[in-house]
Amino acid sequence: MGKKRAVKNLSPKTENWEFTSKDMDAEGIKNSFLNKIKYNLAKDSETATLVDSFNGLSFAIRDRLVERWIQTQKTYASENPKRCYYLSLEFLMGRLLGNNISNLGITYESKDAMEKLGLSLEELEDEEIDAGLGNGGLGRLAACFLDSMATLELPAIGYGIRYEYGIFMQKIINGYQQEIPEQWLINGNPWEIERPEYQYRIRFYGHAGTYKDYDGTERRTLYDTKDIMALAYDVPIPGYKNNTVNTLRLWSSKAIDEFDLADFNQGDYIGSCEDKINSENISKVLYPNDNNHSGKELRLKQQFFFTSASLQDIIRRHFKANDSLDNFAEKNAIQLNDTHPAIAVVELMRLFVDEYKLKWDHAWGIVQKTFAYTNHTLLPEALEKWSVALMHNLLPRHMEIIYEINSRFLRQVSFRFIGDDDRLRRMSIIEEGPEKMVRMAYLAIVGSHSVNGVAALHTKLLKEGLVRDFYEMWPEKFNNKTNGITPRRWLHQANRPLSDFISEKIGTEWRKDLSQLKKLEPFADDPAFQKQWMEYKFGAKKRLAAKLKKWDNIDLDPSMFFDVEIKRIHEYKRQLLKVLHTIHLYLKIKDGHTEGFVPQTIMIGGKAAPGYYMAKQIIKLINNVSRIINEDPDTDGLLRLYFVPNYRVSAAQYLIPAADLSQQISTAGKEASGTGNMKFALNGALTIGTMDGANVEMAEEIGEEHMFIFGLRNEDVQKVYEEGHNPFHYYETSPRLKRVIDLISHNYFSQDEGDIFRDIVNNLLYEDNFLVTADFDAYIDTQEKVHELYRDNPDEWARKSILNAARIGKFSSDRTISQYAEEIWDVTPLPVKDVEA
Ligand SMILES: *Cc1c(COP(=O)(O)O)cnc(C)c1O
Repeated sequence: MGKKRAVKNLSPKTENWEFTSKDMDAEGIKNSFLNKIKYNLAKDSETATLVDSFNGLSFAIRDRLVERWIQTQKTYASENPKRCYYLSLEFLMGRLLGNNISNLGITYESKDAMEKLGLSLEELEDEEIDAGLGNGGLGRLAACFLDSMATLELPAIGYGIRYEYGIFMQKIINGYQQEIPEQWLINGNPWEIERPEYQYRIRFYGHAGTYKDYDGTERRTLYDTKDIMALAYDVPIPGYKNNTVNTLRLWSSKAIDEFDLADFNQGDYIGSCEDKINSENISKVLYPNDNNHSGKELRLKQQFFFTSASLQDIIRRHFKANDSLDNFAEKNAIQLNDTHPAIAVVELMRLFVDEYKLKWDHAWGIVQKTFAYTNHTLLPEALEKWSVALMHNLLPRHMEIIYEINSRFLRQVSFRFIGDDDRLRRMSIIEEGPEKMVRMAYLAIVGSHSVNGVAALHTKLLKEGLVRDFYEMWPEKFNNKTNGITPRRWLHQANRPLSDFISEKIGTEWRKDLSQLKKLEPFADDPAFQKQWMEYKFGAKKRLAAKLKKWDNIDLDPSMFFDVEIKRIHEYKRQLLKVLHTIHLYLKIKDGHTEGFVPQTIMIGGKAAPGYYMAKQIIKLINNVSRIINEDPDTDGLLRLYFVPNYRVSAAQYLIPAADLSQQISTAGKEASGTGNMKFALNGALTIGTMDGANVEMAEEIGEEHMFIFGLRNEDVQKVYEEGHNPFHYYETSPRLKRVIDLISHNYFSQDEGDIFRDIVNNLLYEDNFLVTADFDAYIDTQEKVHELYRDNPDEWARKSILNAARIGKFSSDRTISQYAEEIWDVTPLPVKDVEA
């Protein structure tokens, strides 16, 4: 901010230049840009800042999406296809400028256009604040899915919340994480279009009562509710080089009236403003928990708010092309991204039964055929349960409907499993106990025709464990959809030089059909290709070094081996294991065992939930270890450890292409899928990982011999949990582990700070729920093998790196989405014709 950059060549004749937004060449983009700078932003070459130039270019690019956007929506309206709706409380979109330019296929044209004006496209891209409307993998998955749905020409809409504050900005102060609210809309958002014509009333609180319909039928309705409006903001989602531009519709909350006139007339000006402020709180901030349930009322409000608005919008659209709800399920598929939108099952029942006066059984049949539910976790602390009391207060009619759904469901169970009362208790949507709770996963399963896990192992464990009773009742509902990532963002944009090199060798098809990367396999043994391949890796390291210097004043040495673990900080993801290994390496150096030591930089990045004490302690430990290691002259040229602050999508796009080694080291059975693992392999990093989540399927595709798999398998982990384990035993029997833990517990890394790591040490020695101590030796030994291969056999390393990329095709989100479309949604592509010239 405050940086100013002159826009050269801004001619006073600009206003006379003719252009159409369809000009995709550099000259057309340049003219359009100048037009936007002048007429949208009222700036000139003297006054335009970098942010202005970013906004000007974004508006110019947006124009180039608008015609196709309109054309797409027209096509959908006239063809009336079955549509899919992706409901998600999170969309971790990241930056959109580079993505939109790239999907339009005008990256080099845009670069040229900016260069003609003395601007750098990369520098402008760096002005865009990430749309951080998500926490981690779940939200990023939703973003990759939008890209794939548009690329596959599927009639799809994403629905979510337009948080005023997305995920917080992470600053590191004295080694501790500090959360700073990120005002991502501060410079305006050139990608969104406000749609004041799409507003819906969302009704909270009040009470349910009965009234008599004109024909004497008793019906339920709500009285004395407190209402809030949901206002639509649309973001265009372009497919890759096609005519499809889908919509991500995000809801923002708004007070019903600017002022409550009654209060206003009574002179309660502040009181009526307070109501307004309170109602606008709903879309204010994203809850920053990853894989952890927060039972706060505001969170439930957010869930109902965006869900109700989306369903009202879907029904409105349905009636534009259909005259009854009877074919609703034939025209609409709704995917629930985790249980966060699961209240939709109840809200659609309420709309059908109370508002549209359908009979219960008819309505329920439609609801079950419409919804499908994706489970994202087995972790007990992440499973959503809402207190019945809270829900009754906030959504009284919905609570009634849940009881009705449950009693009908339990009747079904008791028919199927006669006399099995324990099963009834286990399967009830209502959990009995001191505080009655609504089990949202059960509600989602009962209300859907499809339940899927996100990797083969995860789905198997779901069926065998978490929801076994439901699997026994409805085996046909359960299916697996292994996660994927979009190759457009995660290779074509994030690593353009490598992307172009690959295209030179095997053509460009892979961008829409990632299995084509198989064609790289024959090159894996070609020494010239290996050499070039590793040169691209080196180039990516230099690009990362430049960025980390600019962003965080970190000095990377691109000639070193880059070992990277970036993901949310979580005990189950075991960043601690990585730190313990780093300390082990440091001890090796201090012992003078530096012969053959692979000079390496270890990077760890990720945000901790603000209320997650252990995760924040781990960040502090990483930073303290980093300071000691990096300041010790003995480590010069050998070892560096950095905590990379504020991990986010835009940072990932630089970190991942630069990595030699990808850390995927969660406790087996804990990571549902992981998607970071796929991004790294796609960019030629080798993986060190456990047999967890999608790592298992990656090993099947790539070949276990081309990965570094270590540690306890899921079965071993379960056994340890059943038999109980004694981490202290590992401490006593592994001298390497003992030395590392002793160094921490003797405050070597916290000399002026005392016992600050006592909780971490005690946890490791006496609790260690995530089996860090049990896997320590296996991890150290496997890391040793990694370094040996890199040092002693660089050709083989390069070969494996190429094979990893060549064999990762399965993990394109295009494959994932094709499976959802065919096997769950029954939605087919609807190509959009060229916009008339
Ligand atoms: C891909 C991605 C994730 C998910 O990473 P995992 O290693 O699968 O947990 C989280 N955050 C960002 C910014 C990502 O791009």
